[in-house]
Order: sequence, then C-alpha cells, then structure tokens
Amino acid sequence: MNYKKIYLKPKKEESILRFHPWIFSGAIASCSAEPEEGEIVEIIGANQQFLGVGHYQIGSIAIRILSFEPTIIDSAFWDQRIEAAYALRKAIGLVGASDGNTYRLIHGEGDNLPGLVVDIYDQTAVMQAHSIGMHLSRKEIAESMIRILGGTLKAIYYKSDSTLPFKADLGNEDGYLYGENGGEGIATEHGLKFYVDWRKGQKTGFFVDQRENRALLQAYAKGRSVLNMFCYTGGFSFYAMRGGAKVVHSVDSSAKAIALTNQNVALNFPDDPRHQAFAEDAFKYLEKMGSNYDLIILDPPAFAKHRNVLRNALQGYRKLNAIAFEKIKPGGILFTFSCSQVVSKENFRLTIFSAAAQAGRKVRVLHQLTQPADHPVNIYHPEGEYLKGLVLYVE
Ligand code: SAH
Repeated sequence: MNYKKIYLKPKKEESILRFHPWIFSGAIASCSAEPEEGEIVEIIGANQQFLGVGHYQIGSIAIRILSFEPTIIDSAFWDQRIEAAYALRKAIGLVGASDGNTYRLIHGEGDNLPGLVVDIYDQTAVMQAHSIGMHLSRKEIAESMIRILGGTLKAIYYKSDSTLPFKADLGNEDGYLYGENGGEGIATEHGLKFYVDWRKGQKTGFFVDQRENRALLQAYAKGRSVLNMFCYTGGFSFYAMRGGAKVVHSVDSSAKAIALTNQNVALNFPDDPRHQAFAEDAFKYLEKMGSNYDLIILDPPAFAKHRNVLRNALQGYRKLNAIAFEKIKPGGILFTFSCSQVVSKENFRLTIFSAAAQAGRKVRVLHQLTQPADHPVNIYHPEGEYLKGLVLYVE
C-alpha cells in the first residue's frame, strides 16, 4: 500500500474503531502530503495505529472509509464489494424475481461503499456518485459490475450531475459507461409496469425505496377514495387501483411528473376512469380540496437536506400533515413519510403526532415503515436509516 497518510487528532479514532465510515474535516491533524480530491488515502490514529483506507474530499465529510483493513483499492476490491452486494440481493429474492426486475444493487454505506448508489431497471444499471472518489472510480466500478452481473446487464448509465459537489469542477457529463439502452425503458415491480427515464427523471429515474410500502397500501385501498400527494411517477396510485380503490387522484407540482403518472397508469390500467392527475402545489391543493378522501399518501421530497434547516423542515412536515388530518374522512387512513436523513425517527413521530393533536383528531398507529431490504442499514452508520413512514388510522 502506498497511499498518502492522513493523521488524526487524539481520540478521533474512536468512531472509526466502532466502524463508522466517515471522518469529519475537524478530526484531521496533518497529512504526509496534500491529497487530491477523490484520492485514496490511508488513515492513521494519533498513536500511529492503522485505521483504514478511504476516499478523500474537501468538505465537512473529509474521508469516506472503504476498508478498515489494510487494502489496495483495485479491481479485486471492487469485485469483492459488488459481489457481496449482489449476493445480498439474491438472498432476499430480488435478483431474477418473477414479478419484478427493479432493485437497488448498491446502497452506499449500507453496502460498505460510501458515496455510491446503483439501481437496476431490468437490464440497465443507473449509477450515481455522491463523492468525488466514486466519480473518479466510476469506470473501474462499471467494469466490475459487467464482470459480476454478466449477461444480465446490457447498459450502465452514469448520472451524477446533481449529486456531485459542483464546486469541484469535475467537468462531469452524464452518459453511458457501457452499452446503450435508448434512454428509457419499462421496468416492473410486484407485477406492475412503469416507464423509467434515467436520463431526465429525478434521482435514478424511480423511487425504488417505496416498493414494499406501495405494496402495503394496496391492501388498504379497496373501496376507498385515494389522494396520492407528491406522486412523481404515480407509484402508489397504480397499487391503489390494483387494490380496488373507488377513485385515485394523483398530485405533483411538476407537470413532467404528472405526464409520467398518466403514462404509467395507462400502461397498467388503460382507459380506467377511476384515475385523475393534477399538476398543482401540495399546499394549495390540500387547502382547497374537500373532505372526501379516506386514504391519503403524503410522500414529500426531503424538506431538510442539512441539519441547520431542521426546524423549518419539521414545521413544514407539521403544517402539511395537519391539513391532511383536518380533511381526511373519519375512518380514513394516512400513509405519511419523510425521506430526510437529518430528521430522526423520533422527531418525525413527534411532528406527526403534534399535527394530529393540532387538528384535534384521534389517531392510532397501524404500521411503522422504513426502507426495504435492498436499502440495508449498516448498524455502525445509523444515519443510513433515512426513510420513515407511519400508517395511521384517523377517527
Ligand atoms: N411518492 C413518489 C416519490 C415522491 S418524490 C413515488 O412513490 O415514487 C417527491 C415529489 O414531490 C417529486 O415528484 C416533486 O416533483 C414533488 N414536489 C415537490 N414539491 C412539491 C410541492 N410543493 N407540491 C407538490 N409536489 C411537490
């Protein structure tokens, strides 16, 4: 191993000895030579102890640890990590499933690959780098994925324009690292079909993380009037329709999202008069809607991306949920979510419960939801548990 060495201040090794994969810039005492952004560095404790190797980057998280053992980061390393991630998805039945071809192959810290996300849509992998190190390693990672996924993989699309620090001036251009597969495709999830546009869509093109929560919604939909707020591709809506909902209204402020929702509903339920979609702001729609809905989904974007805006974000969640509690029909069911990593499970619950109290409704918790098994949480990195949801029965 011949990497530049980063020396930590006394006591800063403690979290690393507990396998936490991040080192904050304030923990660094000195370095053997100034590393470049994205370079692989060796981490040494104040007592000269070896601690790990990781990707260096200028910013609050200065190092993302790739290995806690002395390891050379080469093709064998990528193969081993990607093989392990693939084995997990096979073990949980997502690879080659008869009713779906969509899953997350790599979930950053949850797969011991901090800064890397890969979603699989049928034969296309969409890769997203959240660190400069992963950006620089993208070609090696792609080669390793081709080796490990073999013939099942026809294309790898790289999509990191919005996830990399723009100041780093990497001159990144999104595009195919391997093969070419049009630019969109039809993927399946629990037997339902949806268009994914990995080039222009949000995130990698679809919110894979709501798969099991959408399936749960189906079980509650029979005979209900459903509002799917923040619908994006309409995911929850087509599950509600399959579950026998009476009417389904999908709302999103983005006109593109509404067009996609209409396309997806047509793909699964052509000419079904139960569904209507509206391009409108959530707060405006909720304020003016009546009290006819008895199944409401609130799946907003992350209101808080940083800890310093947490208070405002919690107020946003409270206001949003309070209107839903005021308007939902007695006996109604609310599926409410937060995907902000900085909002803890406890904060989320308190906010939702205080919104219910503000609306003066009696509420019981039916389910407490989170992300699915292909978004695993590394127990040494509890921050990785980002998706929180509650299913509530409102009297
Ligand atoms: N429920 C979706 C994912 C939601 S992502 C699924 O299952 O796939 C969040 C969505 O909220 C995005 O599509 C975004 O366009 C929309 N959005 C953001 N701000 C909004 C607002 N103020 N009103 C309505 N929709 C909004």
